[in-house]
Amino acid sequence: MELVFLWLGCAVAATWIGVAKGRSGLAWAMLGLLFGLFALIVVACLPRRIQGPAPETHVKCPDCKELVLREARVCKHCRCRLVPV
Ligand SMILES: [Zn+2]
Repeated sequence: MELVFLWLGCAVAATWIGVAKGRSGLAWAMLGLLFGLFALIVVACLPRRIQGPAPETHVKCPDCKELVLREARVCKHCRCRLVPV
């Protein structure tokens, strides 16, 4: 019986660590349920997922059409002055 709780604990921990590292919570919950401690070890060893430019965080510079941060006031590529949206 303790083994079942340990297995479920590994699944919960794998889910929690996976979400904290920017990965799919559902996928790591399933992997945790299937592989238990092994999934926990694998997700603990994975690097944090780096988020790429997204429409919520980046906009296109009107001058050079490169992606720049939404909060930026000056384009880092062409030094064009940007108006905050
Ligand atoms: Zn620019």
